[in-house]
Amino acid sequence: MNILISDAFDPSLPDRLSVFGEVTEDKERLAEMDVVLIRSKTKCDRDYIDRARNLRLIIRGGVGLDNVDIDYARSKGVQVFNTASASAVAVAEIAFALMIAVPTRLVEGHVSMSGKQWIKKQLKRTELMGKTLGLIGAGNIGTEVARRAIAFGMKVIAFDPVLKSHDCAELVDKETLFAEADYLSMHVPLIDSTRGMINTESIKTMKDGVVIVNTARGKCVVEEDMVAALESGKVRAYATDVWYSDPPSDDCPLYEAPNVIMTPHLGASSKENLLRIGDVVVSILEKFDQQTA
Ligand code: NAD
Repeated sequence: MNILISDAFDPSLPDRLSVFGEVTEDKERLAEMDVVLIRSKTKCDRDYIDRARNLRLIIRGGVGLDNVDIDYARSKGVQVFNTASASAVAVAEIAFALMIAVPTRLVEGHVSMSGKQWIKKQLKRTELMGKTLGLIGAGNIGTEVARRAIAFGMKVIAFDPVLKSHDCAELVDKETLFAEADYLSMHVPLIDSTRGMINTESIKTMKDGVVIVNTARGKCVVEEDMVAALESGKVRAYATDVWYSDPPSDDCPLYEAPNVIMTPHLGASSKENLLRIGDVVVSILEKFDQQTA
C-alpha cells in the first residue's frame, strides 16, 4: 500500500510504517495513495478526497475531525480514524499552563523583566486554590484538566450534555456552569452546538472577571465579542491555543486586545504525544492491513 504522511508526525514514523508499504511525504503523489496521515493542517475536503483517487483510509493523528469531510469520505468508501485519547495529557498540560499563567502573572512578569522593568507592586497575584473551574466538555482532555485542578485545590464543575456521570467533576447545566465558574476551560469538538458558543450573550451570564481558557477550537469563541468583553473587563483574561485559522490572519482582533495569552496551537505537539500518536497509527494500520489482506 502507498502511504502519504501529509503533516508533522514523529520522525520515527516513516521507518515504522515502511513494513506496510511505500511511505512518502510527497503531496504531489496524492492520487496514488491508499492511506493519508494528517494532523490539523491538511484539509480533507471533497476536492481533496476526489483528487485522492485510490484513497481507502484517512488517519487523523489527534482528536478533532473538523478538517475532514467525514460523510463524503465514507460515501466514497474511505475509512476515517483519529487517535482519540492519545493527546489528552499533552492538551491538558497546556490548558493548565495557560490557566495558571493568569493568576500567577507569569507573562507580564516575564515580559516586564525582559524589558528590565521591576513592576512587582503592580503585579497583584491571586491563587487557583478554592476557585471554581468550569469545564465545557468533560471527555478525555477535560477529565485530565479536572484531575490537575483538583490537585491544585479547585472545585471542578462541568457541562457536558452527553455524560450522565463523571469521576472527578460535578456535572451541572450550562447556566449553572457559566454563573459559578471563576475559570472556564473549553474541551469540546467544533460542531454546530459549540461553534460561537462563547459570545456576547453567553458572556453576559458569566461571573464578572471570569478567565476563559480555550484549547478546543478557535471558532467556538466569537473573537469580536471576546475582545469587547476583555476591553470592558467582564472577562479578566482569555488564554488561547486555538484560532480561526492556523496561523491567524494579521487582522485577528485578539492580537491587539488586552489580557490575552496566546500560544500557536501547541496543544498536541509534545514529543511524548507524537510518539503515542505513532503507536496508535501503527495499530490502526495493522488492523487495516489484516482487513484488506
Ligand atoms: P472527547 O470527545 O473525549 O470530549 C469532548 C466532550 O465534549 C464529549 O464528552 C462531548 O460529550 C462534549 N460535548 C459535545 N458537545 C458539547 C457541547 N455542546 N457542550 C459541552 N460539551 C459538549 O474529546 P477530547 O479528546 O477531550 O478533545 C476535545 C477537543 O479538544 C477536540 O474535539 C479538539 O477540538 C480539541 N483539541 C485541541 C488540541 C490542541 O492542540 N489544542 C488537541 C487535541 C484536541
